[in-house]
Amino acid sequence: MPTLPLPSELELVQPTPPELSPADAERIARDAFGLRATARALGSHQDRNFLLDRGEEAPVLLKIANPGTTSAELEAQSAAAARIAERAPGLRTPRSLPVTAGGADAADAPTVREIEEDGQRLGARVLEFLDGGTLSGGGHLSPAVVRGIGELAARVDLALADFDAPGVERPHQWDLRRAPAVLDALLPYVGDAELRARLAGAAREAWAVVERLAPELPVQAVHGDLTDDNVVWSDPRTRLPDGIIDLGDLNRGWTVGELAITLSSLLHHDGVDRRAALRAATAYHGLRPLSRAEAEALWPLVVLRAAVLVASGHHVVATDPGNGYAAENLGHELAILEAATAVPLAVQTALVLAATGHEPETLALPAHGPLLGGVRPEEFVHVELGTTSRALHGGRWLEPDAEAAASRAALAAGAAVAATRFGEARLTRSTPFAQEAPANVALGVELALAHPVELLAPWPGIVTAGDDGLELRGDGLVLRLDGAEASALERTAPGAGVHVARGAAIGRAETQLAVRVHRDGDATPPWFAPAAEAAGWLALVADPSPLVTGADHASTSTGDAALPAGTRDARELIARREAVFAEVQEYYFEEPPAIVRGWRELLVDADGRVYLDALNNVTSIGHAHPRLVEAVTEQWQLLNTNSRFNYPAVVEYAERLASLVPDPLDTVFLVNSGSEAVDLALRLARAATGRRDILAVREAYHGWTDLSDAVSTSVADNPGALASRPDWVHTVDAPNPFRGRHRGAEASRYAGEAVAEVERLADAGTPPGAFIAETYYGNAGGIALPDGYLAAVYEAVRRHGGVAVADEVQVGYGRLGEWFWGFEQQGVVPDVVAVAKAIGNGHPLGAVITTKEIAAAYRSQGYFFSSAGGSPVSSVVGSTVLDVIREEGLQENAREVGGYFRERLAELGERHPLVGAVHGSGFYLGLEFVRDRESFEPATEETAAICERLLELGVIVQPTGDHQNVLKIKPPMCLGRAGVDAFVAAVDRVLTTGW
Ligand code: PMP
Repeated sequence: MPTLPLPSELELVQPTPPELSPADAERIARDAFGLRATARALGSHQDRNFLLDRGEEAPVLLKIANPGTTSAELEAQSAAAARIAERAPGLRTPRSLPVTAGGADAADAPTVREIEEDGQRLGARVLEFLDGGTLSGGGHLSPAVVRGIGELAARVDLALADFDAPGVERPHQWDLRRAPAVLDALLPYVGDAELRARLAGAAREAWAVVERLAPELPVQAVHGDLTDDNVVWSDPRTRLPDGIIDLGDLNRGWTVGELAITLSSLLHHDGVDRRAALRAATAYHGLRPLSRAEAEALWPLVVLRAAVLVASGHHVVATDPGNGYAAENLGHELAILEAATAVPLAVQTALVLAATGHEPETLALPAHGPLLGGVRPEEFVHVELGTTSRALHGGRWLEPDAEAAASRAALAAGAAVAATRFGEARLTRSTPFAQEAPANVALGVELALAHPVELLAPWPGIVTAGDDGLELRGDGLVLRLDGAEASALERTAPGAGVHVARGAAIGRAETQLAVRVHRDGDATPPWFAPAAEAAGWLALVADPSPLVTGADHASTSTGDAALPAGTRDARELIARREAVFAEVQEYYFEEPPAIVRGWRELLVDADGRVYLDALNNVTSIGHAHPRLVEAVTEQWQLLNTNSRFNYPAVVEYAERLASLVPDPLDTVFLVNSGSEAVDLALRLARAATGRRDILAVREAYHGWTDLSDAVSTSVADNPGALASRPDWVHTVDAPNPFRGRHRGAEASRYAGEAVAEVERLADAGTPPGAFIAETYYGNAGGIALPDGYLAAVYEAVRRHGGVAVADEVQVGYGRLGEWFWGFEQQGVVPDVVAVAKAIGNGHPLGAVITTKEIAAAYRSQGYFFSSAGGSPVSSVVGSTVLDVIREEGLQENAREVGGYFRERLAELGERHPLVGAVHGSGFYLGLEFVRDRESFEPATEETAAICERLLELGVIVQPTGDHQNVLKIKPPMCLGRAGVDAFVAAVDRVLTTGW
C-alpha cells in the first residue's frame, strides 16, 4: 500500500501551551467550569495538567491542551474515554466532565471549553482523576503485570472497535501507517550515521512485511499510546494495570498497531525480554483474537514503532536541546530498538504466531541425496548431550571437553559417525550461576568421524569455500559445512563459487564436521539459540539430520515437536499433575519449570536452564552425590530388607547416630520421615510419662501425621491451626526476638512466660508430658532462640515430670555451621531427639535418638516396627551421608561460607530498605522483608513476587514464617562462595529493579 502522507512539520513539533501557575489554573477552573478548587501542577509532555482539590468532593484534573490540538480532537478524546468506560466496566478511564453551561448530563454534552491565555486559544477540560501510579521507568514488570497490560490493550481496542468521531481522523506522527514518511522526515536528525543506517534498514525490512499485509489489517480508533507510561494501577503491591490515562494520541490506526505500541514499551524494562512481551500478546489474543495477518504484522510494527521512537527522540533532542526528558529517554528508546531487532523478524514472527495459536512456518529440506559418501546407516550413532543424558552424569556436563569426550566414547564403541541431535537443549552448553537462560539449543548437527569421509552435494547448487569450511547454495537454502575441506574442488576465490550437480563430490571431512541448513538471503543464524527462541528459528533453519543419516528423501517438517520445549513440557506436566494429584499437595512457583537433574547445589530444568538451589536443606550433601549413588547401587545389588533381620548396615548406622549425641542419649529408632520421627518422639514421651498433655511453641511445623500435626501451629501451613488444636495441646509464644511480643533484650522474657505456662498446667493438674520445639527456629526463618530459653523451659518441664523433645529435622546435622545440633547452641541436652531430612540427603530416612529408659517405655504400646525404616539401603544412605559430611568438611563449609553468606546479606540490608533483618547461622539463613523497619510490617506479597522473579534469574528460594516474608536460605551444604555471590547478585538486582 502507498504510505500515508507525512504530517506537516507543525505536527512533528507540538507547540506547547503558555506557562500557567496554579493560581491561573484556579482562575480557569472557576471561570470556565464554575469549580472552586486548589490547584497543584502535575507534569505533562505537551499539555498543562493541574490536580484540582475540591475539598469534600473527589479531586479532578484540569487539562489545558497544547494549541496544536483542535476542539474536535479533544471532544473525540472525551467521547472515546466515555466509550471505554461504558464498554470496559472495571477499567478505570479518565472521563471528561461536561461543561456545566452546555447541558449538564447529556452523554454528548460538550466537554471542551475554549479559553484564551497569553493570546493563545486553548482547549480546557476537566477530567476524572485516577489515583495510583504508572509503570514508567525501567523497572521490572512481573509476568502478571505484562499479561495485564496485554489484556488492557485488548479491552480498549474492543471498546473502541466501532467508535468514531470527527476528531479521530488526523495526520499523526505516531500512526504506524505513516511510519515510512515519518522516518523520512526524522532520520536526518539522527547524527550517528551507523545508527541512522540501522534504523533505516530495520524499518525498510519491517515495512516490506507490513505493506504486504496492510490490506488485511483492520483499522479503527485506537488509544495510540497505550504504553507503560499511560496505564495506571491502584494496588502498589501488585501494580496490576487497571486503568488508562492520556488519550492525547487517540487516532485512527491499525488495531494491531495498538498492541505493537504496547509491546514495544515493555522492552526496555529490566528482565522483560521479547519472550515476556509475547506473554502480553498471548493475553491480548485471549480477549481479542489476532488474525494470522495481524499476528504476522505484529513484530514488524514493533520494529517500526521502535525506529520511530528512536528517530523522534533524536529529533526532539536536536530541535529542543534543553529537553532533558527526551535526552534521558534516548537510552530507553535504544534499548527497545535493540530488543526488537535482536533476532531476525522471521524468527520473532514465528514465535508470535506460536504464542497466538497460529501455525508458524517451518523450513523443510528439499529432495536430497546423502551428504556423507560411503557411510552405511548402521554405522551412525547419536551422541546424547541433553539434560538427561547418561554420558553427562556425575557432573561431567561441566567439564570443558564433555562434548568431545561423549563423541569419542561413541566412536570407541565402534561407530563410524557420531552425530549430535538437532534441536537438543545441550546440557554441556548450560552455565551455572547465570541470570540469563543459556543459548544451548542446537540449530545444527555436529559429527565426529572415525575415519575421513567424502562429502557429496545433497542437491545441486553453487559451492564456495571459506575459512571455516564449505557452503552449498541451492534451492533457496544454504548448506553450511564447517570443518570440511574442499579437497575435491579447487579452492574457490572468496565469493566465487562452483556449480555442482546433486551427488557431486564437493569435499572431505577428516575428523569432524558441523552441518547446518538455513534459508538463503537471511542473516546467518547462530549454531545455538536459547530454548525460548529455538522454536522461532525453525522458520529459518531446517533439521539437517536426514542428510547425515543418509535418508534419500526430503525431510518432513518436524515442527516444534523436534525441539525441547521445556516450558511446554512443564505446563503439560503440571496439568497432568493437577488432574491426578491431590490439590493440597502444592507446588513451588506459579509456572514451575520441569526439573530433570540435580548436581551439587544446582538444579537443571528440561531446557537445560541451571538454577542455584538455595532451598533444599534435605539434600544436605548435594544433589546426585556420586558416593551416595555408588553406595546405594551397591547395596541394592546386595540386599534390601527390613530391620527385623540381622545385617551389618543397620547396626553400623545406629551406632554412628548414637555416637553423634551426648550422654545419656544412646538408643536409636529408625523411621522414614520427620513426621514419623516427631510422632514417635511424642509417643515415647507420653509412654514414658503416662501423660497426655503436650506443650509446643507457636508458629511451628512438626509434620503431617496426627500427632506431629497436633503440635504444628504455623498459620502459613494451616490458617486454622491455632483454633483447631486438641485440648491436650498447649502452646507458648514463638520466642521471636525480632518481630514477636518481646524484642531485642526483652526477648529473655519468653522463657519466663513459657515456664509460667508449665507451672500453670501443673497447677491445673495437666503438667505436660512433653515439651517440643525446634532447637533453632527454622520454620520462623532461621531464628536463634533467646539465650537460655531451652535451658529454662526444659528445667521446668522436667521438674514437673515431663520430657524435653528436640525437633532437629530442619536445623540439625551440621547445617548451622557452628553447631552440629541446634540444641548445642542452647547449651542443653534433650531427652528425645527427632531427626530426618538431611540425614538421608533426600532418601526417606528419619531417626529418634533417646535414652534406654525412655525407649523401653514404648513396650507399653506394643512393639515397634517400621517396614522400611532402617532398611539396608536406608542405613547405607545414612552412613554415607555422614561419611561425606565429615570427609568433605561440610559442617566447616557451612560455618565458613555460611558466615560469608550472612555478611553479604547484611550488606544488601544496608542498601535496600525492604530488608528488615538477616537471621540464622551457617546454611540456615533467613532474609526477612518488611515494608517498614519501625513497624516491621511484613512484606508478604513482595516476598512471593521476589521469589518468582528470582526463579527467572536462576535462583530457587521460597518464603517461610507465619507471614511468609522471610526467604528461607538452606542450600545443600556443598555451596561455595560463587553460589553465594550469584544468589546475592540476583537478590540485589531484584531489589534494585523490582519484582
Ligand atoms: N519437623 C520440622 C521442623 C520440619 O520442618 C518438618 C518438615 N518440613 C518435619 C518435622 C516433618 O518432616 P517430613 O516432611 O520428613 O515428614
